[in-house]
Amino acid sequence: MASSPLVDFHCHLDLYPDFAQAVKRCEEGKIFTLAVTTTPRAWSRNQAITSSTQYVRAALGLHPQLVAQYANELSLFESLLPDTRYVGEIGLDAGPQHYRSLELQKAVFQRILQLCAKAGGKVLSVHSVRAVKAVLDTIDQNLPSTHGRVVLHWFTGSRAEARRAVDLGCYFSINAAMLTESKRRFWVSCLPIERLLTETDGPFTHVDGRPSQSGDVNETLASLADIFGTSHAEMRAQVARNLHVLLGNGS
Ligand code: MN
Repeated sequence: MASSPLVDFHCHLDLYPDFAQAVKRCEEGKIFTLAVTTTPRAWSRNQAITSSTQYVRAALGLHPQLVAQYANELSLFESLLPDTRYVGEIGLDAGPQHYRSLELQKAVFQRILQLCAKAGGKVLSVHSVRAVKAVLDTIDQNLPSTHGRVVLHWFTGSRAEARRAVDLGCYFSINAAMLTESKRRFWVSCLPIERLLTETDGPFTHVDGRPSQSGDVNETLASLADIFGTSHAEMRAQVARNLHVLLGNGS
């Protein structure tokens, strides 16, 4: 039996020195990769380079850490949204460096969720640093799970918040850096296994002292297999199935 494709549901392929090579690597390695972007202006290049790929999908994004600078690209975001099923990186960041733009971030995030709800069928990769409650409230109020699906990227909420996210229909994309503490490993063990995906958040995470590349998810799969008491191959197959269910037929 051929092994299941690897899944990297949050990777910034356009931030690697050689974007085209990074995409080629995903194609050759059969790594299903969501290429998230950080500004709407980055979209056209991403769309062009992934228009005929089998394993790479580009997402239209407006990163919360860049909202203070690029909120004026929201109208561009709106005009591009019909061109893609995938949206990200979007969300909220209330960390010390970005707290000042939080109200503006909330307005932008809410608007994006409303646009996605209206369009229907979108799949979103969402950032929620120090703003889990606000992210879940905004999803709850603006994007019913029947109108779009949310994948929470690098989620660090409490168990109660995770349960709420599960009830809202959210998935979780998990990277190796999230599983280094035993507290967090326990937290992950409480999530439904069928809601888990893997991600690298490359090039912002590291493996063996170098920036992660798309598909560097084997360490994460090994940890998840250990946490859930299953084999690496079965965990890999589970994540591929989860992705299949998330995307339905039209990927
Ligand atoms: Mn990211």
